[in-house]
Amino acid sequence: MNPNTAIACPFAKLHPSELKRDDAYYMAHAFNRAVDAWNADEVPIGAVVVHNGIIIGSAFNQTRMLGDPTAHAEMLAIGQAAQALGDWRLNECSLFVTKEPCPMCSGAMVVARMGRVVFGLADPKMGCVGGAVDLGALPQSNHRFESVGGVLLEPCQAILQAFFKHKRAAD
Ligand code: ZN
Repeated sequence: MNPNTAIACPFAKLHPSELKRDDAYYMAHAFNRAVDAWNADEVPIGAVVVHNGIIIGSAFNQTRMLGDPTAHAEMLAIGQAAQALGDWRLNECSLFVTKEPCPMCSGAMVVARMGRVVFGLADPKMGCVGGAVDLGALPQSNHRFESVGGVLLEPCQAILQAFFKHKRAAD
């Protein structure tokens, strides 16, 4: 992507109530990382990992900045969470991400034994927690994770659509 075509993200960050720490609360934090991604001229996807109600991993997509195709928001947040816990097993954690995870990130959640996955926008082409396939329910795997989609769908979808619309217009 050409940095000369970058514009500041037109979406404001969300300020969820601290009193109601539900799925939408944590997804709002993931969305705010997507805003950070846009402002870094990255595809606006954000993710957080939560343990006992506390965010222990928080990242946005950085594939362009790092020149690394594996630098998806989920991968970075999972790495931070494992570091924070001092344990690669994340059974007690939940991952919140603005878009349904791709094959790589869904695979990482299987090997990390992620307890629960919550996403905003479903991805019927590449999504691997139910959109295209469900890696959280591999028939021969002994690790399964619960997944919930459609949380804060509207802003999670709108920011991606607006970003790609802007990029197409700038081409
Ligand atoms: Zn991914």
